Amino acid sequence: MPDFESERDFLVDSLVRRGYVVSQEVEKAMRRVPREEFVPAQLRDDAYVDTPLPIGDGQTISAPHMVAIMAEKLDLRPALKVLEIGAGSGYHAAVCAELVAPDGHIYTVERISSLASFAENNLKKTGYGNLVTVIFADGTKGLPEHAPFDRIFVAAGAPDIPKPLTDQLADGGKLLIPVGGRFYQDLIKVERKGGKLVKEGLGGCVFVPLIGEHGY
Ligand code: SAH
Repeated sequence: MPDFESERDFLVDSLVRRGYVVSQEVEKAMRRVPREEFVPAQLRDDAYVDTPLPIGDGQTISAPHMVAIMAEKLDLRPALKVLEIGAGSGYHAAVCAELVAPDGHIYTVERISSLASFAENNLKKTGYGNLVTVIFADGTKGLPEHAPFDRIFVAAGAPDIPKPLTDQLADGGKLLIPVGGRFYQDLIKVERKGGKLVKEGLGGCVFVPLIGEHGY
C-alpha cells in the first residue's frame, strides 16, 4: 500500500521548488487534498505523478502543476464565490474549496453526466460536499442563477471567451480561461474593472476542448 501522504508532500515540495506553488495558502491547500481519491481506482498509484490522467469519457484530471498555476493566478481568498467550468474529477474544485473555506463557495459545472456524478462522489467522500456544488449543464452559458462570481475559471480549452462568463463576472472579479486551438491554448486572465475588461496572456497550456453553445 503506497504511502500517499509522503508522495503528496514530495510532489508539493517539487511544485514549490519549480516555482509553481508560491503562496503558503496554495501550498497548504495542495498538501491537504488527497488526489488519489479523485482518480479511477486502477490509477491510484499514479496519483502523485505531475501529469494529467484519464478519468473516462476521453477526459482528464488536470496536472497538479496546472492546478497550482491557476490557483495562484486566481488569487483565491476566504469567502469568495467561485465558478468552475469543467468539474471532471472534482480535484481542482477541492483545491479551490480549501482556499475559500470556511464561508466561500465553489460552483462547478460539468457537461458529461457520468463525470458530474464522479466529481460529486469524490467531493463528498473527501469532505468537500458542503463547500462545492456540482451542476450537470453546459458551462459555456455560465450559471446565471448564482451570478455574479468573484472568480471564474475554465478547465477546458475554448475557441474564444464565452460572453456569458464575462457578463457574470463581478466588478473587480477575475476570470481564467485557456483560449486557442483544440490542441494548444494560451491561458488568458480577464479582470473586470468597472465597465472595462482587462486581458493578460499568461502562457501556453494544453486542455481538452470546451464543448457547448459558446464553445466548440
Ligand atoms: N477540473 C477537472 C479537469 C477537467 S477536464 C479536474 O480537476 O479533474 C475538463 C472537463 O471539462 C471535462 O470533464 C469536460 O467534460 C468538461 N467540459 C467540457 N466542455 C464543458 C462545458 N461546456 N460545460 C461543462 N463542462 C465541460
